Amino acid sequence: MKRVVVLSGAGISAESGLQTFRGTDGLWEGYRLEDVATPQAWAANPALVLDFYNQRRRAVRAAEPNAAHRALVELEQAYDVQIITQNVDDLHERAGSTSVLHLHGQIRQARSTRNASLITDLGDRDIQLGDHCPLGSQWRPHIVWFGEMVPAMEEAVEILADADVLLVIGTSLQVYPAASLAFEAPRRARRIAINPDAPREVQRADFEVVAATATIGVPEVVRTLLKAVANHDCTRCTH
Ligand code: NAD
Repeated sequence: MKRVVVLSGAGISAESGLQTFRGTDGLWEGYRLEDVATPQAWAANPALVLDFYNQRRRAVRAAEPNAAHRALVELEQAYDVQIITQNVDDLHERAGSTSVLHLHGQIRQARSTRNASLITDLGDRDIQLGDHCPLGSQWRPHIVWFGEMVPAMEEAVEILADADVLLVIGTSLQVYPAASLAFEAPRRARRIAINPDAPREVQRADFEVVAATATIGVPEVVRTLLKAVANHDCTRCTH
């Protein structure tokens, strides 16, 4: 089975009602990133940071996977599909994708401020100031903030090393080091970017660009990839 690696970003969940943050105003749901998504913000105003992520968690709970998330599940019929996502929502999992690596953490989890490997499932619960882990320290959102290490990068690079097809969906490629993964697939891999406003970097880097929203573009690309397997179309290098 050939491997399809998906690098997804906020754009894949936009049509589920979850805002991206590099839209028109550069804010994330009205907040400056420096005020809510950095270790400095956490040190300065943890109540504001908790409130921001509590709101994001409620928005994720209210959202449903869309046709793009679902199409990637269908692709598993004929491919080894490995999803690497920058998103903190769980829409890939709720659609039914079986292999999802979260680079930037998960909104429905909390982690200890004393021991980063101590993680708990929150489900839909909020985190409040004074909610303590078993070690006695404050729980924080299990989110990789700007300026923090991305521990899953090594695993992501390993997954990409065996990619036959790379789909880069709904990401501005402005957030590093995650963005560098778009250029980590082996030379032989077919590269496709799906984004109505694809970043210039992919246009320069030998990608086929599908300039459509995720709910239109992803099912279209998935149909083509499934058809290639059905037709044993080796010339397209997809199975
Ligand atoms: P981004 O906000 O920087 O860029 C969004 C990209 O999606 C843009 O290139 C835009 O053209 C594209 N886009 C917009 N609507 C689209 C659609 N309907 N279909 C396809 N593409 C569409 O997003 P990013 O590159 O993922 O970086 C943002 C960071 O913010 C991520 O690391 C993530 O952790 C966080 N974030 C996550 C969520 C989420 O979990 N749903 C939402 C907002 C931000």
